Amino acid sequence: MPGLYFHIPFCHRACTYCDFHFSTSKQRDPVLDAMELELLRRSREVGDAPMGTIYFGGGTPSLLAPERIAAFIQQARDLFRVERDAEITLEANPDDITAERLHAWQAAGITRMSLGTQSFHDERLAWMGRAHDARQAMESIGLIARAGFATWTIDLIYGLPGMTLAEWDEQLTIALDHGMPHLSAYCLTVEARTALAHQVKTGVTHMPEDEDQSAQFDRLMERMDRAGLDHYEISNFGRPGHYSRHNTSYWEGVPYIGVGPSAHSFNGVVRRWNVANNAVYTKALRDGSAYWESETLTPVQRTNERLMTGLRTARGVDIAKLEVDALSINSSAVQRHVSNGSMSIQDGRLVLSRAGRHFADRIASDLFVTDDDR
Ligand code: SF4
Repeated sequence: MPGLYFHIPFCHRACTYCDFHFSTSKQRDPVLDAMELELLRRSREVGDAPMGTIYFGGGTPSLLAPERIAAFIQQARDLFRVERDAEITLEANPDDITAERLHAWQAAGITRMSLGTQSFHDERLAWMGRAHDARQAMESIGLIARAGFATWTIDLIYGLPGMTLAEWDEQLTIALDHGMPHLSAYCLTVEARTALAHQVKTGVTHMPEDEDQSAQFDRLMERMDRAGLDHYEISNFGRPGHYSRHNTSYWEGVPYIGVGPSAHSFNGVVRRWNVANNAVYTKALRDGSAYWESETLTPVQRTNERLMTGLRTARGVDIAKLEVDALSINSSAVQRHVSNGSMSIQDGRLVLSRAGRHFADRIASDLFVTDDDR
């Protein structure tokens, strides 16, 4: 069942570590109008297939007026066969949350809120360059929990410079005390061309050792396990019935349409990505010129993508669906990872153990195939 992704390319301010595409401009309407045009022009791509999920990501979708979100959802319903029980997610930041706005988003059709909490620590939030403080983080969770959405989730970041295991434990305790049904927890990484990359390069900030980040990942897995949240993807934990349907489809290679500057799309064979520039995107849609690039994935590329995304999930990789026999080609690597307890083969699926999850990307790359292998 295909999905629909809207990339809302605006933020209140730039976070220290962020390399997503966004602008802090207040000139938003021309870009949003162009997105409506893009959706209209691409409406035939899905055909009559029912649409199971819609996801508003960014950027910061919650800084738009709720009426804009409602208009996008209505347009999607007019153009596609959106399922009655479709999961419709809105990413939101704590400083945008009020009871009135939650009510308006709900009335617009949002069923799942994804809150960019990141930390419950004022100094950490200031260092990250976030627009909210710890009090807003906690109050917004309370408002969301009481608002009656079908489900909701929060994001937290660990592996921060100087973060101790005790500090991370405290963050997890605060999160669990708020009763969240789902958590996305990301280890801080240094992305090129970010303020953080500059700080690290100039010695202003020192990133933690791998062992410290690894110990925090272990603690995260232990705490979520004890609290009854399933570890269904490397960075995602959810109670049964509260997994992200949109992201699960993405990890399983289900087609999706991505609308907006920098948004990616995939139809099962061709991957395409829109230009990551608001002005160029808007002008191209007005002029009717190209605003995207694309590539047709080869069987080798599709096999490697399945390994990369599948190994990150608890369900693992369906071996029968690999178009190239990566396991035979890399039999010694498979044997090594199975015998050292990082990986197992269960019911025709390749699944990582808890120990193996620390090295998911490295193990996947050990199993990659090349054109020469065929
Ligand atoms: S709010 Fe999100 S998208 Fe915007 S700058 Fe911060 S991390 Fe990036």
